[in-house]
Amino acid sequence: MSAIQNNISQMLQVLPKDVVLVAVSKTKPEEDIMQAYDAGQRVFGENYIQELRDKYEHLPKDIEWHMIGHLQSNKVKYIAPFVQLIHGVDSEKLFEEINKRGVQNNRKIPVLLQIYIAEEESKFGFDENELHDLLSNLAVKNQKGIIINGLMGMGSFTDNESQLHHEFSYLRQIFDQVKSKYFARSSEFQTLSMGMSGDYKIAIECGSNMVRIGSAIFGRR
Ligand SMILES: *Cc1c(COP(=O)(O)O)cnc(C)c1O
Repeated sequence: MSAIQNNISQMLQVLPKDVVLVAVSKTKPEEDIMQAYDAGQRVFGENYIQELRDKYEHLPKDIEWHMIGHLQSNKVKYIAPFVQLIHGVDSEKLFEEINKRGVQNNRKIPVLLQIYIAEEESKFGFDENELHDLLSNLAVKNQKGIIINGLMGMGSFTDNESQLHHEFSYLRQIFDQVKSKYFARSSEFQTLSMGMSGDYKIAIECGSNMVRIGSAIFGRR
């Protein structure tokens, strides 16, 4: 068994059954993805549009591709036909563009709204007020090309476990509130994407049900 296959099977053993593993394969060659694929992994996350498109075209069609990185509105059209989940929706403009491209492609594109939880200024996402503004607006709109499956967040780049605990718990709290306030009568809002190689254990303790793991599977980038 290759190192990658080993890492995948170990990861699947430690993750609770209800936590989805997104294997983050950005910058990694297609051979590496195929090793993970051969170990049974089907969900992969990418950050760059061109790379995502190339890999989608070359690799098996039963792979579920997630766009996890920052996405510019003018790039949505390139992935709209096939992307299975867009994690980082962080503006109303991007939301509208995804909806428009979903309609054009005759599908509802599943998305997660990204919430800003870290201390760093550089991370993207809505704050709590912006999130409520967006969702109360949307409640009266008829969105045909997009479906909100949940929330996503990135913790601070730190070893401070109590800080990460605090950030992830905060996001979990927002998730529960939003779910009961705006999605009480639908089953579409289920996914809370938080946790990466360095902090996924804490994220899961705080209620994550989707982790995005790159280096712990594929090695350093
Ligand atoms: C790269 C990336 C990851 C994976 O990071 P690792 O530390 O390698 O596990 C997860 N989420 C996002 C948004 C990323 O850009």
